[in-house]
Amino acid sequence: MKKHNFSAGPCILPQEVMKKASESVVDLDNIGLSLIEISHRSKEFVSIMETAQELALEHLGLQDKGYKALFLQGGASMEFLMVAYNLLQSKAAYLNTGTWSSKAIKEAKLFGELVEVASSKDANFNYIPKGYEVPNDVDYFHCTSNNTIFGTQMMEFPEVNVPLVCDMSSDIFSRQLDFSKFDIIYAGAQKNMGPAGTTLVVIKEDVLGKVDRTIPSMLDYKVHIGKDSMFNTPSVFAVYVSMLTLQWLKDLGGVAAIEKINNSKAALLYDEIDRNPLFVGFATKEDRSRMNATFNLTEGANVELFDSLWKEAGINGLNGHRSVGGYRASMYNALPLESVQVLVDVMKEFEKIS
Ligand SMILES: *Cc1c(COP(=O)(O)O)cnc(C)c1O
Repeated sequence: MKKHNFSAGPCILPQEVMKKASESVVDLDNIGLSLIEISHRSKEFVSIMETAQELALEHLGLQDKGYKALFLQGGASMEFLMVAYNLLQSKAAYLNTGTWSSKAIKEAKLFGELVEVASSKDANFNYIPKGYEVPNDVDYFHCTSNNTIFGTQMMEFPEVNVPLVCDMSSDIFSRQLDFSKFDIIYAGAQKNMGPAGTTLVVIKEDVLGKVDRTIPSMLDYKVHIGKDSMFNTPSVFAVYVSMLTLQWLKDLGGVAAIEKINNSKAALLYDEIDRNPLFVGFATKEDRSRMNATFNLTEGANVELFDSLWKEAGINGLNGHRSVGGYRASMYNALPLESVQVLVDVMKEFEKIS
């Protein structure tokens, strides 16, 4: 039986995408060859890469607006340093909203001065700081749209007069935003787009070329743009599955359609967390993530009983990250509403028999 997969990443992908992907490993579209045994320069793979790039820009509403989509390697973690390598001439501003922001800050410090405009570390990152100022004399401002570990999400982005860079690893393609406000958006594939192994980087080309350091080729966005994301062998499988997922999203009605479903899923779960006296949410209500819901049992509630109930119901991946504890339900695009209903039913049952 297929489990109800609330894993935080790598995580659930659409069933039909995984089926098609597995067939393509044996024989890609009846060409008599596997996806993973053909040249990345073959017309079949070049077309896959182009389609994936076009779909990514289309879903973000960024076609013909001076943006390029790249599928790179090294994960979102590599972008922590590539962003700074390519953009940080003297000083950059960062908003610190959790583990991933902190890691991005650590890497950027290797390249120049860093202004931490605000941080929610004082409350174990259970909220998104607001009302901070982004200085005008920085090379860029960096933020994390969704904090996968702590379960908070930025609902608004500051108006800035400098390039805006955002790590959207765990909520890309999950909601509508004016993406043209951003100059660089990056996301590791393995949360909402595909398997681990590739990272989507969407870049407004005119932010590049402003630092005077020498950048090694593999870390130079301009080099990757110049070679249409084929400077070296891309992660062919991860790019292909990402393309299939982006196609699945388009067939479903795109980001506008999935956003409605994601909102329903999140409302269903948070309503139960707030109603049920045995549960308490971790993140401040107004900053709650619609992708990753973090919650705990209230004092005295029977941990063993709850754990056995959700495991018996076929639920996977509900344990919270070690830095938060408790539980985390990740409700990425591919997770059906029915899975959230199963979890909510378990929570109600737990209340009844406790
Ligand atoms: C998972 C995650 C990362 C790390 O991604 P890797 O691909 O493992 O490097 C970075 N930022 C956010 C917001 C994430 O959720």
